[in-house]
Amino acid sequence: MTKYIYAFSEGSQAMKDLLGGKGANLAEMKRLGLPVPDGFTITTEACIEYLKHGSTLSNELKEELHNQLAAFSERTGKAFSSNENLLLVSVRSGAKISMPGMMDTILNLGLNDENVEKLADKTGDARFAYDCYRRLLQMFGQVVYGIPMNAFDQYFDKYKEEHGYEVDADIPAEVLKEISDRFKEIYVEEVYKPFPQEPLKQLTEAVEAVFKSWDNDRARVYRDLNDIPHDIGTAVNVQEMVFGNSGDRSGTGLAFTRNPVTGENKLFGEYLLNAQGEDVVAGIRTPKEIATLDSQMPDVYQEFVDVTEKLETHYKDMQDIEFTIENANLYILQTRNGKRTAKAAMKIAVDLVDEGVITKDEALTKVDVKSIDTLLHPAFEEKALEAAEAISEAGLPASPGASTGKVVFSAEDAKTQAEQGEKVILMRPETSPEDIEGMVASEAIVTTHGGMTSHAAVVARGMGKCCVTGCSNLNIDTENKVVNYHGKEIHEGDVISVDGSTGNIYLGEIETTSAEHSEEFDRFMQWAEEAARLGVRMNAETPADIQAGYQFDASGIGLVRTEHMFFGAERLVQMRRFILASSKEERVDALNEIRKYQTEDFEEIFRLSNGRPTIVRLLDPPLHEFLPKSEEEIQIVSNQLDVQPDVLKKRLNDLHEVNPMLGHRGCRLAVTYPELAEMQAEAIIGSVMRLQAEGIESKPEIMIPLVSTVEEFKTLKDTIQTTISELEERENKTVNYLIGTMIETPRACLIAGQLAQESEFFSFGTNDLTQLTYGFSRDDAGKFISEYINRDLLTIDPFQTLDVDGVGQLIKTAVEQAKASNPQIKIGVCGELGGDPKSIHFFNDLAIDYVSCSPFRVPGAILAAAQSQVESERLVGANK
Ligand code: ADP
Ligand code: MG
Ligand code: MG
Repeated sequence: MTKYIYAFSEGSQAMKDLLGGKGANLAEMKRLGLPVPDGFTITTEACIEYLKHGSTLSNELKEELHNQLAAFSERTGKAFSSNENLLLVSVRSGAKISMPGMMDTILNLGLNDENVEKLADKTGDARFAYDCYRRLLQMFGQVVYGIPMNAFDQYFDKYKEEHGYEVDADIPAEVLKEISDRFKEIYVEEVYKPFPQEPLKQLTEAVEAVFKSWDNDRARVYRDLNDIPHDIGTAVNVQEMVFGNSGDRSGTGLAFTRNPVTGENKLFGEYLLNAQGEDVVAGIRTPKEIATLDSQMPDVYQEFVDVTEKLETHYKDMQDIEFTIENANLYILQTRNGKRTAKAAMKIAVDLVDEGVITKDEALTKVDVKSIDTLLHPAFEEKALEAAEAISEAGLPASPGASTGKVVFSAEDAKTQAEQGEKVILMRPETSPEDIEGMVASEAIVTTHGGMTSHAAVVARGMGKCCVTGCSNLNIDTENKVVNYHGKEIHEGDVISVDGSTGNIYLGEIETTSAEHSEEFDRFMQWAEEAARLGVRMNAETPADIQAGYQFDASGIGLVRTEHMFFGAERLVQMRRFILASSKEERVDALNEIRKYQTEDFEEIFRLSNGRPTIVRLLDPPLHEFLPKSEEEIQIVSNQLDVQPDVLKKRLNDLHEVNPMLGHRGCRLAVTYPELAEMQAEAIIGSVMRLQAEGIESKPEIMIPLVSTVEEFKTLKDTIQTTISELEERENKTVNYLIGTMIETPRACLIAGQLAQESEFFSFGTNDLTQLTYGFSRDDAGKFISEYINRDLLTIDPFQTLDVDGVGQLIKTAVEQAKASNPQIKIGVCGELGGDPKSIHFFNDLAIDYVSCSPFRVPGAILAAAQSQVESERLVGANK
């Protein structure tokens, strides 16, 4: 018979799959001898079983639950039915991978009309007893019966306001009793059934509700966002309650062992006295800094500090710890590896290596590739900042970033407007798990309530999203969609700028500058480079981009797209002359002009590359991209080129293609106009020769795009080589260069062995290869791919993450053939997938040399390559 429930004392850290992260860590903490309230965990297997089969808990599970409760009573002397020793429990969900705020918790379960009075008598504290009861009514109502939290909150808040109670702790017992009675009425009004008085019924309903909540929309969205599988289920922890709301010697709080924003090695946290559960996170009262506890309860504080140190050393990582104090006794309720900003992640990883806690390889796995991006993002320009109008006294810098956008007041509006291409900033009094999708869609999140550990702060940091919390001087009125501050107003649609690193908010848009690197960043990236096997190049052609990429330590340029150089006003005229020419002379004439520009451009590029390998791709796009479209443009061009409009139109007509993506583009252009390849080869090598004269070395690699036959490649290679030989002879210089091909048609993959005999390098162009493998137009597929994904017809967007089974197999075949026929061949990947962590993992396992991606993705790609290598070495080690 399968065992579905484990007492905390039976579990351990290693049992995360079965007990979930929370349960496994509660068990582990028990093993470490820490003060953890007793309890047991119902396994993820029980959840999966339940979701598969039933609408009620199986008899088997009920029986086990019964036995566990009996054993529990034996150990603690408490029982649901005992008047003397009343058992109250929390019911807490916890999946294998931490999903903060996504699943719901119920506290004080076991209370009812009868025993709440007994509890009041026994403790001599009716206020406390009824505070527990109204909380249970609220949480149970929401989690189990789906009663909107608002139904309770509205009444509660209004009552407090009308009677002038500032904080919950001011509310006297008889009022809390009255409120509880009202809450019970809400049950009947909202769901037509009463609050269940029987503790065991409460428990079974709660367990079922947690199981079901695994499948709610919020949870699904979160899992999709974080690549968490949908079929692993959640565990349920049932734990004896300890009471932080039992007076001023009690309280609740949470702390990170290091600062989750900066990484500083100093305890970081908040607590509230006489409070329970999520009061701190919900931002109802402003919590105190953890260090203050030292003066309020020195012994408890010291004990807590000891626990945090013990936990960090044990888990070898920064911990996020939840605790409760009951009558000056400390209890630890949760620990997990803390979420952190990329900046903090890097600092913590580097510090832990310096402290001798972890190895460099382990450090590399502690920074999420996706989060690196936020380190590279721009900050507001100093000057512009000084000039900007601040609308708020600094809020709390909850998650760094510099974002500008239009104000919206609800998650829904954020979502709809973002879908229409607007950049939006979500402003709320506070956020809750229902807001997740809206938060994803926003550039930044601003809240008035809550601290650095509020829901908004934690979730935003996890997403690498700019966030400012605790802007207490902003009055955000979501109903009337207006923010009042200092007698002024901001309305929906107004543009504001949010600085998540300082907590400041400004009116209007503010210019940004590129990010600076910390010393930790440089050291960390150095380790990543040493660990990575794959090289990482960049796709870039403008000086600014190239400089950025080299700052991030790109090992060269994997793709210079020459067509981007044709769009300057003067160049475009010559380009049009070339395209529209009716004779070869005319074409060569125009190309001679273009060559001058190209030579200058390439000179700049090779100068910046300064001896690093640089791939220049020959002209690739269909020619119509360069041609005039509107009547007006046609008129202008006909003047510029001095041809009659009707002659021009006829020529435009001749050039028209029904399906340009599959038409006259790529190497086909140079096949029909060899003078194009000649011009480009001359410009490339000519620029290298100029730099030679200055003593600057270059490594030019000339790449022929969209090849599908060996003959295409051979004829163009021949043209290029002849041109260069002639140039070398004329100039009396020699230049070393490579000629290779882009592999981006399925046919090229299948004949890669033959191509490799002719080619000195390959670079997989994954954008076109994906397009041609699926037959999905790159430009139009967006329209249906998202629907495919929603309906599980595709699991990934193959233009963003490699389709391993299809496109990946073509690449694999091509690499194997190529290596077999030309062991010297250099192989890389350019295109969006070159910067995607999962795809990089696949590429790392193939015998290729490098990936190439846009400059800002270079550090992420280096880290992904390093992590992938560390992982495969670990696997090899494990198999020995
Ligand atoms: P989450 O997964 O959202 O962190 P938890 O299960 O940790 O939810 O519960 C939220 C909070 O409820 C905890 O941080 C703690 O303050 C409170 N809580 C949970 N269980 C208990 C308990 N047994 N006694 C006292 N407080 C509890
Ligand atoms: Mg929670
Ligand atoms: Mg928790």
